[in-house]
Amino acid sequence: AMSHAWGYAANNGPDKWCDNFPIANGPRQSPIDILPGAASYDSGLKPLNLKYDPATCLDILNNGHSFQVSFSDDNDSSSLKDGPISGTYRLKQFHFHWGASDDKGSEHTVAGTKYPAELHLVHWNTKYASFGEAASQPDGLAVVGVFLKIGDTNANLQKVLDMFGAIKCKGKQTTFPNFDPATLLPGCLDYWTYDGSLTTPPLLESVTWIVCKEPISVSSEQMGKFRSLLFSAEGESECCMMDNYRPPQPLKGRAVRASFQ
Ligand SMILES: [Zn+2]
Repeated sequence: AMSHAWGYAANNGPDKWCDNFPIANGPRQSPIDILPGAASYDSGLKPLNLKYDPATCLDILNNGHSFQVSFSDDNDSSSLKDGPISGTYRLKQFHFHWGASDDKGSEHTVAGTKYPAELHLVHWNTKYASFGEAASQPDGLAVVGVFLKIGDTNANLQKVLDMFGAIKCKGKQTTFPNFDPATLLPGCLDYWTYDGSLTTPPLLESVTWIVCKEPISVSSEQMGKFRSLLFSAEGESECCMMDNYRPPQPLKGRAVRASFQ
């Protein structure tokens, strides 16, 4: 059994999550290894219709597992429509997963290829009353995943990384007004989609995954900045935040569809 709360260490990491969250071995778990050759092109998949308002950006928080940027979701100002989903899904937060080195860190992989980090933009279906209610429904959430690939310095991402001084330790939070999450999206919004789950406990099977084919760039120096955050709270022994990703899970017969040929 887990010795304490879930995390990414040997004694409380992904291999142990099933002790407290048996859905970890369920039929639609995430992430997965995406095999492009096995994904079927679906001409019925619409382009993503993303509308983000920088005025809805609220704050940035170190939650002890990652850091997340949260958005006001009391109206549809920042929302996702079309793509593989029906109705309107509101942006709740975005966060990242990353590795201890540049050769690993993404949750999804593409034919076994690991990227150094992966961005998740989390949206909830407004047919439900709140994020909390939607999070346990089969069509409750839609998460847009974007891979980060080593290349040029990403000036838009740098605006996020520049906040890290204020959120180094678990539990630290600061305001982060007027950030436009659309600036973190790749130029091409071609995607793969499949039915999956949250990749952290409680691992609820409520996510329509939308994984962008095209990565965004990040410099190796910027990746180093991610690893300057801490899993630990102020006053605890310092533990660098890295390798906060779950490895690919069994596909169990699920279809992966592509929006592109
Ligand atoms: Zn995530």
